[in-house]
Amino acid sequence: MAKKWNMIVDVERCDNCRLCFLAVKDEYVGNDFPGVSAAQPAQGHDWLDIRRSERGTYPIVQARFYPVMCNHCDDPPCLKAARDGAVRKRSDGIVIIDPEKARGQRQIVDACPYDAVFWNEEKQLPQAWPFDAHLLDEGWNRTRAEQACPMGVFRTIKVEDGEMERIRAEEKLETLEPRLGTRPRIYYKNLHLITKCFVGGTVVFYAGDVEECAAGAEVVLEKDGRELGRATTDTFGEFVIDGLEPNSGAYRLQCSAAPGKLSMDFELGPESLYLGVLTLVPEERIKG
Ligand code: SF4
Ligand code: SF4
Repeated sequence: MAKKWNMIVDVERCDNCRLCFLAVKDEYVGNDFPGVSAAQPAQGHDWLDIRRSERGTYPIVQARFYPVMCNHCDDPPCLKAARDGAVRKRSDGIVIIDPEKARGQRQIVDACPYDAVFWNEEKQLPQAWPFDAHLLDEGWNRTRAEQACPMGVFRTIKVEDGEMERIRAEEKLETLEPRLGTRPRIYYKNLHLITKCFVGGTVVFYAGDVEECAAGAEVVLEKDGRELGRATTDTFGEFVIDGLEPNSGAYRLQCSAAPGKLSMDFELGPESLYLGVLTLVPEERIKG
């Protein structure tokens, strides 16, 4: 079986420095690569787009950034929408929007469900990131974006599909919008930081009349009597338990520490949830 190109993107590592975006600009703006891509215009095209996701509410808010580009899908809607062979799937997995045959075919832009194709008004041409195919064909084994990224977000690998399935399972990789069924070759690690919810809170106790942060308290999250996650509160008494399905309904949170215990039930809707300030109740008061 032939080896094919894949890209792994680790969402947890991205800090929005945008060096990858600039590297893609440097490679394609003003440069023609016959058979692969026509020059990208200086403005308006984000072939590699750094997208932002925000979860939570004050005081626990998490902003994450993640690069999105053409997914080089194995079942690409852009190819189905193209006429006259304007989009082709190479045997190494890369999808090429032909810089000559695709002229005038604006429907290719609309066909991509990931908004990864851009319309070049001057050339009347749909364009997307071609996986640096011209460089890989010369023997490169890393894309410009991977070389530019100081955080090690990207990993370009050429392996047989069976091996990629093994890596995918082993590293718990996901793809964007799997419900679309396009079978992307861009895989994301730690995608739960974008797609799933977290629950957080601040645990306190009373020492006399003084409210104190409960640092080092063990917080356990249960669903239907089964433990789903646990966390230890930080210096400020805050905790976060991540990776929960949106709209997943009823949960029970329990916490116990030297100053006391607490238990509360809540419902998780479509967004991450801050449960507020949670007060530990001394054991003697629970028993009493
Ligand atoms: S991400 Fe869009 S442009 Fe790229 S292969 Fe898939 S459908 Fe086509
Ligand atoms: S270069 Fe790396 S860390 Fe910087 S924005 Fe791109 S992916 Fe994120």
